[in-house]
Amino acid sequence: MNPPATPPGPERRSVRITAQALTQVADCRRRLWLGHHTRPQMAPLPDHVLVLRERAREHEREVAARFPGIVGPVWRHEGSLADAAAETLRLLRETRTPILRGALLSADGRRSALPGFLAWDGDSITVTEARLALRPEARADFALQLAHTRALLEEVAGLTPSRFEIVNGNGETTSIEPASAARWESVVHAVESTLAETSEPTELKGHSSCKRCPYYEHCWDMAERDGRIELLPEVQAAHVPEYHAIGVHTLEQLVQLDPERLPAGAMRGAAKKAIVVAGAWVDKRAAWLQPPRLPEGPLVWFDLEGDSQGEKAENPIYLWGIALEHGGGDAVAEAIIAELGPEGDRAAWERFVARAGAILDEHPGARWVHWDGYEPLWVQRYAETLGAPEGFVKRVQAACFDLKRVLDRCVRLPLRSYSIKHVAPWMGFEWRNPESGSEWSVAQFHRARLTEDPAERERLLAALVEYNEDDLWAMRAVWRWLRENAPAGPASAAAAPPA
Ligand code: SF4
Repeated sequence: MNPPATPPGPERRSVRITAQALTQVADCRRRLWLGHHTRPQMAPLPDHVLVLRERAREHEREVAARFPGIVGPVWRHEGSLADAAAETLRLLRETRTPILRGALLSADGRRSALPGFLAWDGDSITVTEARLALRPEARADFALQLAHTRALLEEVAGLTPSRFEIVNGNGETTSIEPASAARWESVVHAVESTLAETSEPTELKGHSSCKRCPYYEHCWDMAERDGRIELLPEVQAAHVPEYHAIGVHTLEQLVQLDPERLPAGAMRGAAKKAIVVAGAWVDKRAAWLQPPRLPEGPLVWFDLEGDSQGEKAENPIYLWGIALEHGGGDAVAEAIIAELGPEGDRAAWERFVARAGAILDEHPGARWVHWDGYEPLWVQRYAETLGAPEGFVKRVQAACFDLKRVLDRCVRLPLRSYSIKHVAPWMGFEWRNPESGSEWSVAQFHRARLTEDPAERERLLAALVEYNEDDLWAMRAVWRWLRENAPAGPASAAAAPPA
């Protein structure tokens, strides 16, 4: 295996322990190290991040309105941190004014914190943060960040806060106990020792953790180039040292491994699966486990577009997409798009119930093909919240057919992820808009609903509908690929749902 190649960058930056660094060292040491030692070419921020940031700013503005006479933000990203820290200290020493986004900087300049709100309660100082998370008390990273603020307030201003609070995304205020001083010190130490390492850490997190990381391409391209076993979800992080101990670092070495060399039990079982997947990677082909059982007869391609905020969003599902395919001609995609707000949400649900009910009546044997558990789950949630005709949920769920589950059971592919966005392109399918994706779609919906320009709204919604159609056709492409490429075997067609 090649030694890790550090992305090119200028000289190292001075060490600074921030609240973000404390969180990152627990999430991924490699990300912390890369962020400090390199200045990668940062891609423009994706739409969903911009939408989330705007929501966070809006929330912060709402919380700020609770503090009469508040000054700030003292720290603005384009300014000098030292100047902002001096001004924060002056305000703390000379006034009783609440402070929005102050800055705290240790005497040696190596530690800094940017507390959201500092306010006086009599003679004692309180720390408040605005966070979109709904259960901030369950977040160890928030407790650690508050401990960091406490340590800096004590050091630079001689103030020990009497209270720490977080206002969550619903506007509710919760008292939070900061992490202990010992815990904070040990994490600070972990940050310092990670940043002091002279070569890049080699750990690779799971694909779902990495896919939103700015270093995703750097880490995963390197792992793929080196053929590392950590690429496979079947190789658990806790088992990696044991593989390494017996000389298995690469996929080629894994293919050759006799699993009996591993301790009996869960690890040996996982290794047997990992060997099959490693074979798929090494030979760049599908490795079949068993022939798929695919439905015959009418099909309904079924895909929902939903907000990542789930039930907290005004429109948890903003597009209900279906396409009926039966002997009577080509499938035609249908999209039911919600208007923004609760009334629009209800109206879209009722239109979906009416259309789905009609298809269920007309084609009782049709299977509703979807990808993973999202679609049946949200049909159930909407029925519980907004109501549905007697037996509707049971009928939809009985007709549902999870294509991803079939794929998981039957075949291993040389892919980083089994998301439809990875699987369908491997089988030759392309989305018409290569920029599109689930988070792009959420941002598209919000922009369409907020714009005053009808032509712009039409354009944005048309792009959204096209994206959902392609999601439906992507599933159809996977279904056809399974049909055409599966080895002959004893599998029979999947049964139709009960009438
Ligand atoms: S891509 Fe993954 S392994 Fe690499 S720095 Fe980001 S989170 Fe860590």
